[in-house]
Parts: sequence; C-alpha cells; structure tokens
Amino acid sequence: MLRNVVIIGSGCAGNTAAIYSARANLKPLVISGHEAGGQLSLTTLVENFPGFPDGINGPDLVENMKKQAQNFGAEYLHGAVIDTDLSTRPFRLKVEDEWIETRTVIIASGASARWLGLPNEQKLIGHGVSSCATCDGFFYREKKIMVIGGGDSAMEEANFLTRFGRQVTLVHRREEFRASKIMLDRARHNPKIKFLTNTVVEDIYDVGHHLVTGVRLRNTRSGETWDEEVDGFFVAIGHIPNTAIFNGQISTDPDGYILSQGGARTNIPGVFHAGDVQDRVYRQAISASGAGCMAAIEAERYLEAEGD
Ligand SMILES: Cc1cc2nc3c(=O)[nH]c(=O)nc-3n(C[C@H](O)[C@H](O)[C@H](O)COP(=O)(O)OP(=O)(O)OC[C@H]3O[C@@H](n4cnc5c(N)ncnc54)[C@H](O)[C@@H]3O)c2cc1C
Repeated sequence: MLRNVVIIGSGCAGNTAAIYSARANLKPLVISGHEAGGQLSLTTLVENFPGFPDGINGPDLVENMKKQAQNFGAEYLHGAVIDTDLSTRPFRLKVEDEWIETRTVIIASGASARWLGLPNEQKLIGHGVSSCATCDGFFYREKKIMVIGGGDSAMEEANFLTRFGRQVTLVHRREEFRASKIMLDRARHNPKIKFLTNTVVEDIYDVGHHLVTGVRLRNTRSGETWDEEVDGFFVAIGHIPNTAIFNGQISTDPDGYILSQGGARTNIPGVFHAGDVQDRVYRQAISASGAGCMAAIEAERYLEAEGD
C-alpha cells in the first residue's frame, strides 16, 4: 500500500503534523518510535503550552494530540524506523521487518537529551531532574539548583536559572570549559552562580520520596566525596538529533541536526522536517508543534502540485 504521508515520530511535532495532514484527508501514518509521545511523555506539568491556564501533564498533552489526529483518520504504528531509502520515489522506510512505501515523509524524530547515565537519573526525570531550563526553571523559585555541564548551553541554562533559584551551582568534571569566553565570563560574573570544577555527580537522591533532595559529588583530583542538598538538577551536556537512520541521505550539520532548505524542506524534495530534529535553538513543545503544522502544509502542497 502506497502512503501519501508517513510521519516519523509521535512527539508534539509528529502529532501536530498528523492532525493537519489527517484533516487534509491524506490519511497519514505515524511511526511512534520507541518513545511514544516523545519527550513530553517524560515530564509532569507543562505550564507554557498555550490553551491550558492551569497547565497540563506532558503525557496527557501528547495523548490528547494523538486522539485529535486519530479522530481525523491518522493511523499510528508501534515500532521504530530502522532503515530508509530516500534515493528513489516512492520513498521506502523499514519498520521492524516491513518496508513501507510513501510519497512524502515528515521527519519528526526529535533530539534526545544526553544524560549522565546515573542509576537514579531516569527515575527522577520530571521530579527534580530536567534537561530544559526554559521548561522547568519556573518550578524552582527560591530553591537550590544544580546545573551539570561545561559548554555554552550549561552557561546559558545556569544564567537563566538564576532568575528563579536562590543559588545555582554549576558542576563540571574538568578545570577547563568548552563554553565560549563570553558565555563563561557572563556566568562567572553572576553572583548567584557557584562553580564546582573537577567534580562529578555520583548519585542523585531521593528515589524513595520520588523527588530530588540532594546529590553525592566526587572531586576527581582528591577523590573526596560529599553530599549536597539540591532541589532542581539540570543536565546540560547536549542533545543527540535522531538522524542516524538516514545514513547521510539528509543534509545535516556536523552535530546531526537537519539543515533546513527553507520552510520545512530538506535537501530531498518530498521529505520535510519538523521539530527538535532540526531545531537546536528553541526546543519547545509549542515550537515543535508549529513546525509540525508547517511540515504537514508543505507535504499537502507538494502532493497537490504533483497532481494528487
Ligand atoms: C523532561 C523534559 C521536560 C520538558 N518540558 C517542557 C515544557 O514544560 N514545555 C515545553 O514547551 N517543552 C518542554 N520540553 C521540551 C519538549 O518536550 C520538546 O521540545 C518537544 O517534545 C519536541 O518535540 P518533537 O516532536 O520535535 O520531538 P520529541 O518529543 O523528542 O519526539 C520525537 C519522537 O520521534 C520518535 N523517534 C525517534 N527516532 C525514531 C525512529 N527511528 N523511528 C520512529 N520514531 C522515532 C520518538 O519515539 C518520539 O516519539 C521538555 C523536554 C524534556 C526532556
């Protein structure tokens, strides 16, 4: 069966693309991926998505989007795309053992946050552990915040979080920073930011209470370990865009983010991008949804121009 539109990913971008393309009668197929609902399915309260004055739980928000798309005829398939052939038309996407053929593709596969890999980290995401200061900083007014990382994003997150926290401790495993001088200087001159270099986090507490209450730290030079109280724990060590499945067929920047050719267009006509997989700047639910809308409209116009 030849599909009109296949959407790779079921986060805000993929679900919004599904709503728009389903309402355009294109009967889209959404491949959910291993993280159905995307990054918002990892979090608790989302307070900045317009239309919800009291906020809404992340998993409920994406589930509502999915239901909305299904109401208009979108289909969802469990599983992940493991291989792609975008060299000829129709495009071919391999999901588990099956090749799916489609006239257009919307790539909404997101960018996964890099985590430290600590035993309790994943269990406390949304309960004090976060990878997004813009999203979660507001929850830590007058609280103790820790930011992990040594690059520009860590400096930016730390500076931003001083608007909320009573103190922000920036923990970095080395003495030297990858961050640009200007970003580092800005953080160093911020009286609310305390620097802890040559330090790594060994554990995060307290899974038993379902809430971050503190961390165990280790100085990499002296080997000394100690505990510190923390309310908000922000990991800012980068993101990995989920573009490996395209094997170089889609133009990306050196970090793997899709290079836009304007609007939602990629370097391959008929293949469109949506959301965090192309966006290293905003990375928000609403910007991903907006990008999903754009991609669906472009796919629809592309098919129409082809004589659909
Ligand atoms: C803990 C946390 C809290 C956040 N809180 C907020 C907030 O309060 N407000 C806000 O605006 N933003 C928040 N964000 C950011 C927001 O979640 C992201 O910007 C948004 O989810 C991006 O949407 P997306 O659809 O582009 O990508 P994602 O949500 O990352 O979705 C990507 C989708 O692609 C799928 N996928 C990946 N690879 C494949 C493959 N090979 N085959 C098929 N599918 C694949 C995944 O399974 C997933 O369904 C938060 C993020 C995190 C991590």
